[in-house]
Amino acid sequence: MLTAKFDQLVNQLRVLPGVGQKSAQRMALHLLTKKRPQGIALAHALDDAMRGIKECQRCHSLSDEEVCPLCQDPRRDDSQLCVVETAADVMAIEQTANYRGRYFVLGGHLSPIDGISADDLNIDQLVRYVTQSPIDELILATGTTVEGQTTAHFISEAVGRHVKKVTRLAQGVPMGGELEYLDSMTLGQALQNRSFL
Ligand code: ZN
Repeated sequence: MLTAKFDQLVNQLRVLPGVGQKSAQRMALHLLTKKRPQGIALAHALDDAMRGIKECQRCHSLSDEEVCPLCQDPRRDDSQLCVVETAADVMAIEQTANYRGRYFVLGGHLSPIDGISADDLNIDQLVRYVTQSPIDELILATGTTVEGQTTAHFISEAVGRHVKKVTRLAQGVPMGGELEYLDSMTLGQALQNRSFL
């Protein structure tokens, strides 16, 4: 324990995932002794982000405005809607640069064990989205966990009749993967979902 202010900073840094007492102390010391101006800039950026970033009214991803830049972009394809669990998934898919459609963020997945039911996700909003805007293809990009699969199935039931087709991300062999190290579920899925060369 150095000072009360130092302890307070360490305690706040510990809210970050994977940051324990030791790492928090190291971060705080680093900022105080070597990166003070950057530390102040960090504090400002945090304050700005925490107060200013909200949920996009349309896709429920993160946004500075009522509607996010992705939803506002006229070059995106309105006929495809990719349903993901979190804003992090939007970022991951955007980084592939392989998708030009729109997104919809559910806000998680169904998980009875954790008490997360359909009412806790943006499913009503998704139904409203697809009934208000015509969609050709709804791409279900929820996780491949049991919860993710259950969520995909649930959405397909709830929304499927409002769209022309519902697709699911292919599952199978990861890039650079050796077949012998794959679990049999993944390899089985890869065989089922095989595509033309
Ligand atoms: Zn949006």
